[in-house]
Amino acid sequence: SVPEIGSPARTKAILNRYRLVAKKSLGQNFLSDLNILRNIVSAADVTDQDNVIEIGPGIGALTEQLAQRAKRVVAFEIDENLLPVLDETLLPYDNVKIINQDILKANLPEVIKAEFEAGHPLKLVANLPYYITTPILMGVLQSNVTFDQIVVMMQNEVADRLAAEPGIKAYGSLSVVMQYRAHIEVAFRVPRTAFIPQPNVDSAIIRLTPRTDLPVKPYEDKALFGFVKGCFAHRRKSLWNNLQGIFGKQPEVRERIAAVLEQVGISRQLRPERLTLVNFIELVNAFHADGL
Ligand code: SAM
Repeated sequence: SVPEIGSPARTKAILNRYRLVAKKSLGQNFLSDLNILRNIVSAADVTDQDNVIEIGPGIGALTEQLAQRAKRVVAFEIDENLLPVLDETLLPYDNVKIINQDILKANLPEVIKAEFEAGHPLKLVANLPYYITTPILMGVLQSNVTFDQIVVMMQNEVADRLAAEPGIKAYGSLSVVMQYRAHIEVAFRVPRTAFIPQPNVDSAIIRLTPRTDLPVKPYEDKALFGFVKGCFAHRRKSLWNNLQGIFGKQPEVRERIAAVLEQVGISRQLRPERLTLVNFIELVNAFHADGL
């Protein structure tokens, strides 16, 4: 029988047969290690009850592993040259659909409604194109779609930033904004040698679980995101400095900033990286209530 798509021998055979040259501009690095592929599917705990969205199926290595365990898989692939390849490699699976579309332009709620039977867990599992990791995740987390579980591979450094906790160097506005939507943890690391062709960075799998447990809510999501960005504008400087960057340096404004900090119970000497998500939410709400 034919080895699975994600085995190095089969990956090489497919690339040769179709004379495929991986497109760097589309982040094409094909994962070819069956153990890692299976571990990704396990990290998402995929069962035959689950509907799964995949982004960037490539030649179908992860898609195949998902198809073997999920109820149904719908995958978005932007590169039309890969369509005939996927037609062939995924021929044995009747629970897979490939959509030839840029994920950043896709209407996820519509596709999900049209393609999946309702009432089943919905999961997102993907080896992301790294050049658009952040826009993809922001788009997904802000869409009206609620995934029960998101398990995605990205470059190590971005994974560390997403999962970072307050006080460590990797913690920044991206960590706060993403953690507002989901609990984020690094599931495991993947060396660059697991890919064909090899990228020049190592990778990590992260698991995002949409959160429902926030003790406070910002008065507006967008305001929170803008505020957090502003607070991290100069991460070497104190919160106090950054807040003046946001609201102004006039004596009257400074007094009001000081009063809000005092009211929320946050020292002005702190660096922004010390603040927790809840601190940021309380602050943005307090500044809003103050009218600043
Ligand atoms: N899933 C395969 C694997 O694990 O070997 C391929 C992963 S490769 C890192 C990223 C894939 O995303 C490529 O197939 C690429 O063509 C596709 N891609 C890039 N940009 C995309 C976009 N905007 N929308 C959908 N797919 C995209």
